[in-house]
Amino acid sequence: MSLPEGLAADRPAASERAYVTLVTNADYALGAKALLRSLRLSGTGADVVVMHTDVASADLAPLAAQGARLVRVELLPTSDAFNEAHAKARLHGAAPFTKGAKPPFHTPLDNFAKLRLWQLDYARVVFIDADAIVLQNVDRLFDYPEFSAAPNVYESLGDFRRLNSGIFTARPSPATFAAMLARLDTPGAFWPRTDQTFLQAFFPDWHGLPVFDNMLQYVWFNLPQLWHWPSIRILHFQYEKPWQDHAKADRLRVPIDLWRAVAGGGPVPDPATLPNPA
Ligand code: UDP
Ligand code: MN
Repeated sequence: MSLPEGLAADRPAASERAYVTLVTNADYALGAKALLRSLRLSGTGADVVVMHTDVASADLAPLAAQGARLVRVELLPTSDAFNEAHAKARLHGAAPFTKGAKPPFHTPLDNFAKLRLWQLDYARVVFIDADAIVLQNVDRLFDYPEFSAAPNVYESLGDFRRLNSGIFTARPSPATFAAMLARLDTPGAFWPRTDQTFLQAFFPDWHGLPVFDNMLQYVWFNLPQLWHWPSIRILHFQYEKPWQDHAKADRLRVPIDLWRAVAGGGPVPDPATLPNPA
């Protein structure tokens, strides 16, 4: 298998399977560095790939140092109308975020570049957002079908109907990628939660992963009964990021400190020994 035009890798694939994340700026490179370290600590034999846009090489170097394969990608070739509809100010105006705050370095349009993974030269992919860390080996996710994702649970039982696109399973295929592009950018198209809304529509029969494969940080204070450190396999910092100084940081001290231990490169506590929320 080889990569199509427009994608450029710094080396060939070394496995049929890959964990893939996306980095379009220096902030998400900080996140990815922690994710990559956590994947390495999980003992996986799969490739670890960072799809990136035009990010400074100084920000990418730590990712290469963690053993990642770097694949340069372009944002999707979407129309001007699509880009305007999904520009940050327009999207936040049309579909405001009322549950939490998106960081200033988050550009909604960039999220759609996740779909480029369907162009990669792997048989199986597990995508993981750059703001997540793996706490246990999750190689079993490669055996789940396309398309599997965990529910977007962070507030109530109603959340189980929606998927969260921070972690999902995929089978790269040029035909699927082409079908996605055709479906994505039609006249008047508006995907209020970007790739997440799109993927739920494109895969209406999505397969549910356990919540512990994508534990969202707000569960810590909204649904504390659901939090169980020994069960959590992937921890995902949706909304505010653990490398930011933000308004909810004090309420999320324990998960944030775990992320910082992973990011810092020093010893990482056994999550099973951490306190559960009050
Ligand atoms: N992302 C990126 N640049 C952006 C926005 C998003 O690289 O400007 C990537 C990054 O991998 C990030 C993911 O897309 O983790 C989804 O965005 P985010 O995690 O901020 O969304 P949330 O989980 O808060 O919904
Ligand atoms: Mn995320």
